[in-house]
Amino acid sequence: MTGTRYLVHGVFWDGQPAPGRGHDGGAPVMRLQSPSGDFLQLSLQPGARLGFQIVEQFRSCLGHLRVQSSVRRDHILCSTGAPAARGKQCERCFMLDESRLIHDFHRGGRVPPGLLDYLMQEHWLYVATFAGGSTKVGTASGPRKWNRLAEQGAVVARYVARAQDGRVVRILEDLVTAEAGLTQQVRSAAKTEALLQPLGEAELDALNAGHAGSVRGLLARTAVEGFTVADEQWIRPEQTSTLYSPAARHAYPHPLDNGRHGFDIAALSGTNALARLDGTDAAFVVNLGHLAARTIVLGDFASPVPAVQESLF
Ligand SMILES: [Zn+2]
Repeated sequence: MTGTRYLVHGVFWDGQPAPGRGHDGGAPVMRLQSPSGDFLQLSLQPGARLGFQIVEQFRSCLGHLRVQSSVRRDHILCSTGAPAARGKQCERCFMLDESRLIHDFHRGGRVPPGLLDYLMQEHWLYVATFAGGSTKVGTASGPRKWNRLAEQGAVVARYVARAQDGRVVRILEDLVTAEAGLTQQVRSAAKTEALLQPLGEAELDALNAGHAGSVRGLLARTAVEGFTVADEQWIRPEQTSTLYSPAARHAYPHPLDNGRHGFDIAALSGTNALARLDGTDAAFVVNLGHLAARTIVLGDFASPVPAVQESLF
């Protein structure tokens, strides 16, 4: 196999928040790790071409995070380059990963100083609704308040509380799950499937507004201290409108654990792209999240149009 072998770390949406409707905000990228340990950012903006071949059957460890402060986290690459035993990490990196500790902090868990600095900054509680109507409650740190929801692929979202730190926000999150019944996780596969037949935006907005209103009512009555109730709409990236429009589209027909793939990106929602394959007007929803921890070589490839295409229409 010729060509540089890259380890895929995933899809990230960094940069400035969208300043208003009609704007994208930031820029989505697929982050690749080169053999020397440098990172390459592949643009996933509408119009970008993505061509790659998967060159390993197994997933490799992506290393672990060490949180240095509220604004700085270091990504420590895996020293052994081991196959991933637990999702996207080897056993050692899973144990060393500090982001794991975040979820126990509000239950009295101990954390290192850098992570404590991160957790003690302002956090936001949000209610996010996805293309199929699934709704979740979640948290975001102040600096990544907008980006977190872009990376999740929310269609409509509202911030419902501004908390003084990451401990209070997770107490509120658990309270909302217990009292309002909102889940803290919407499965990745459900998000992808929902994009094949998204509900209308007005319907999703009404759903989200209803849940957000209930949560605000709940928060107004709680004895928990250290937060204020908020009522602020998240502005989604404008280019995602292409993905949420009620047009015919299909599930991407090829598994992303092997083979050669190539397509144009028409839009991106979270890790899900609307892909245009060469030689057809049909649009396909492909979950680029499946590429995380895979080893790829970039190239000028084109995904075959499925032979069963006629029956899809
Ligand atoms: Zn590792």
